[in-house]
Amino acid sequence: MIDKAQRGIRGALFLASYRLGQTRVRHPPLVLNVEPTNRCNLRCPICPVSQQEQRPWVKRGFMSMELAEAVAKEVAAFRPLVAVNMGGESTLHPRLAEMIICFHRVGCYVFLDTNATRLTPALSEALVNSGLDEIALCLDGDGSADSYEAIRVRARFDSTVNGIRTFLDTRRRLGSDRPRTIVKNIQYFRSDGGLRFPVALKRLFEDHPPDGYRATYADYWPGKHVDGLKTPYEIQPYASGAYRACTNLWKKLAISWDGKVYACCLDLDRTTYVGDVTIDGVMGVWNSPRMQELRLIHRQGRQAELALCSRCTMIQRPPQGRLAGLLKWRAERFTPFRDETTHERS
Ligand code: SF4
Repeated sequence: MIDKAQRGIRGALFLASYRLGQTRVRHPPLVLNVEPTNRCNLRCPICPVSQQEQRPWVKRGFMSMELAEAVAKEVAAFRPLVAVNMGGESTLHPRLAEMIICFHRVGCYVFLDTNATRLTPALSEALVNSGLDEIALCLDGDGSADSYEAIRVRARFDSTVNGIRTFLDTRRRLGSDRPRTIVKNIQYFRSDGGLRFPVALKRLFEDHPPDGYRATYADYWPGKHVDGLKTPYEIQPYASGAYRACTNLWKKLAISWDGKVYACCLDLDRTTYVGDVTIDGVMGVWNSPRMQELRLIHRQGRQAELALCSRCTMIQRPPQGRLAGLLKWRAERFTPFRDETTHERS
């Protein structure tokens, strides 16, 4: 894993190239999404995958181990943070733990975000033993089983809670403090209350809590997600049209299960192709002509010309984070979230 100093240098290079609006960048991506699969067992209205019948052009499948190994081999030189998830439920991939091992082995910090519906004892043990550094387990809604099942369509509240408890038990039984485990809650925006992790859900893990809790609001995904909703929901207001250049284009690369790369990890409808790592490799795509063109369009404030980015709430929100007001470059312009650390460790 890269150390603090290397992280600092990397961050400074990113900052410089973002602020200068460079289109061809010298630094490698800081973060990679590697998508084990874009298939999902759920049909959550908060995600465009639930509208997959209306998106026949999106090919669905599973990443081969050969591709994962080739990507790991290439990125070993710069060891980005690797999120092994994108447009589907990664635990559906039968070789997910092996995939994590292959990125862990080359020194990457590996993170997984999962809907937590498939956490059997065997899978939990495989994930804990894989070297995974951090995991986010989703438990959504306002604290009630009904609100959970309305957001996580096809999932059962009790079963997911049991799965999360199984995972926490397994980590404790194996005597490991890895992966750092966060229980994450997505809730619909309500203008009458502050963003908080529901107390009723925390009580479920009182006997041995995770390392932390995160609460966040459901947002709309860029593109056509909102158009396909039977019942659009309220989202936190943002400054419509007040675009900022998207930091993702200078920071992250999102590799689909088949090696194709689109503008960002939110382009689940595969609208804005930028390259293919099976042809040009990770660094080739990172500075591909289309990637450079996207950076230029953002630098010039012409995001409205891009069908994808013109409907992205992410670049229209004010910066988040403690230093955001001082250091606008931090620019975590994503959906607001609130973290709470648990002091008692499981
Ligand atoms: S503006 Fe939004 S859709 Fe466009 S690249 Fe950035 S995060 Fe993705």
